[in-house]
Amino acid sequence: MVKRSYPRRTCVVEGCPSASTQFPSWFICGRHYRLGAPVGSPLRRALLRVRRLGRKLNWPDEVYERELALWRAIIRRATERDRNGFIDAAAIGQLLGVAHG
Ligand SMILES: [Zn+2]
Repeated sequence: MVKRSYPRRTCVVEGCPSASTQFPSWFICGRHYRLGAPVGSPLRRALLRVRRLGRKLNWPDEVYERELALWRAIIRRATERDRNGFIDAAAIGQLLGVAHG
């Protein structure tokens, strides 16, 4: 199987140096994906649900638009969190030996 390759693109989050040739139109790096849609977050769950629906229904326009809207929300959140320096309270609490509610 031939590995698909596209022009090299950098992550959609401004200033991020990560790049890939695996995607035809745009690309978000793993770090920013996790920042924008952490595992178990409502956005991540909504995205997985919409993608499952898209595969099942062969991507009708409404589902495709819904997926794009979710990606826009994820990218916006990742950008904001990156700019503000996302603080992982649980990890910091562990480091300091302090319980966080
Ligand atoms: Zn990135």
